[in-house]
Order: sequence, then structure tokens, then C-alpha cells
Amino acid sequence: MVVRLTDTWTEILRRRASNNSTGAYTEPVRDMLGEMVAAAALMQANIKFDGSLVLQIFGDGPVKLAVVEVQPDLALRATATVVGQVETSATLSQMVNANNEGRCAITLDPNSKFPGQQPYQGVVPLFDDRKHKIEKISEVLEHYMLQSEQLDTTLVLAANEQVAAGLLIQRLPVQGSGNLSGSLVSKENEDQIGLDEHYNRIAILASSLKRDELLTLNVETILHRLFWEEQITRFEPLQGASAPRFACSCSRERVGRMIVSLGREEAESILSERADIEVGCEFCGVQYRFDAVDAAQLFTAPVQQLDGGAAPH
Ligand SMILES: [Zn+2]
Repeated sequence: MVVRLTDTWTEILRRRASNNSTGAYTEPVRDMLGEMVAAAALMQANIKFDGSLVLQIFGDGPVKLAVVEVQPDLALRATATVVGQVETSATLSQMVNANNEGRCAITLDPNSKFPGQQPYQGVVPLFDDRKHKIEKISEVLEHYMLQSEQLDTTLVLAANEQVAAGLLIQRLPVQGSGNLSGSLVSKENEDQIGLDEHYNRIAILASSLKRDELLTLNVETILHRLFWEEQITRFEPLQGASAPRFACSCSRERVGRMIVSLGREEAESILSERADIEVGCEFCGVQYRFDAVDAAQLFTAPVQQLDGGAAPH
């Protein structure tokens, strides 16, 4: 599976750059987040799952959190929280794994849950089996897929200021057709890791793809360069409304519920110091403002209107 995001990616970057409180991403943060966006789109497209896929890195360096959320229809949003300075030459571990305490989490949150059901989450560290720091997002995710799904996976990821792109090669499970659901971990699959000669050949070819090639070449050319000796069946690319695209799920109503959850006292204390309670969405940059009248309305509105739902982030 190949993904090449241009408008979606530049939209995310444009919104970040115009956010006065954060400013644009520095290059290494931008490229890391772009690779995560490409990878999350590939993973969501690769599973037939009715729910959101959330890819997160909890960093112990200047990048505290990088998060990508992809809906089943491939609508996606992404953001990173940076505290302090990131050098333009920063490596992955300098950004998110300074003390080997960074973590990568993948959460599958079903749209319809039975009572008490928790989202499925897998977490891996940002080091390999010998505790060596991993310096590529693709290797972190390959590691994740091997550990939690027992699936051989090869990922090539790249991003710059215009493109976020990725190539995913995965050996299908021995049994079943779904991946990543956590239910397919079986002895048969485990026994096959690294042993399938066809997978190994395709994986080696895929790994030879260079960052520049992935960023600049169209899909046709990439497939031809890598797999010209293989017989390829190409599926119709997803386009228009079924293709990945930027969309933010925040709303004034959700922000209102968050303010209610802070409590009346907290809200009033903020409003005693300033004219508005201001909440900015980190994903899309929209600023929500609630003045004293708006806030009073929130706290007097019927309870059932305030129930349920989650904070915007
Ligand atoms: Zn938003």
C-alpha cells in the first residue's frame, strides 16, 4: 500500500504555522509528524475497522506528544506538542527519546462500544530488543507490528514541507483476512515470522526505496522501479471523498462541555482575570471564546445537553 499526501499535509502545516501561540514546526518535528501521518493513514486503510486509529508518541525530550488521529473514512488530523528548543539537526531520539523513556502507542477506538468496553491499545518503547534507541518512525512501527501482531511489516516513510508519503508491505496473516485487530496472534503466524521467501524478497526490494524517491516520484514510477520483475495487480487509488483528507472533529459544544467539567468555580476564577475563557484547538487552530454570559449559559443549560462526549483533545 502506498500513500502520498500533499494537500492534506500542507493544510496541517499551514494551520500550525498560522497558530500564533505555537508557530510553525521546526524541520525535524515536521518530518517526524509527517511520517506518522503517512503511517497512520496506511494502517487505518489496511484494517477494516469501524473506529478511529490513534498513533501517539509520548516523548521524554522537547517533543512531549505527537499524535495522529485517522477516522475510518480516512479523515485525519495531527499535532505535536513541543516544549523548548528542537535543533534543526535533531534526531528522533533527541526529540522524543532522550532518556530511553519515550513510548509509541497505537489505539483502536471502536465507534460503537458495548458497555464498559475499552479501546484496544498497544504500546512499544522506542528502543530495540537490545535497548538501542531506534532512530526511525518506520522501525518503531515495524517493531510494534512484530511484537503485538506477529506480522512481518516493512515500512518506508518520508516527509518534507510539501509531501508526507509512505509505503507499507505486510505479510498477510496465515489465517484470517484482518490485521492489527489483536485477535490474530496465533502460533501459526508466529512460526512464519521472517520465513516467507516471497515476503522477504518483496520486503528487501521495498526497503531499497530512497527517501527522495518516495517524496518526488509518482506511485506508478515507484512501483515500477521497485517491482519491475514482479507481476503487479494495481488497485484503483482512493480519490475525492474516500481519500485521506484533513478534518478536525472539535466543536464549540465539546469545548463547552470541557469548561463545564472544569467546574463553575474554576470558570469564574478565569473570568475574574480576563474577559473570555479562551480555548484553542491544537489540531486545527480554531480559537473558541466564552465570555461571562456564554459561561453562565453553559452552567445553567439542562444537564442532559452537557452529558457525554469527550474533550477536543
Ligand atoms: Zn480543531
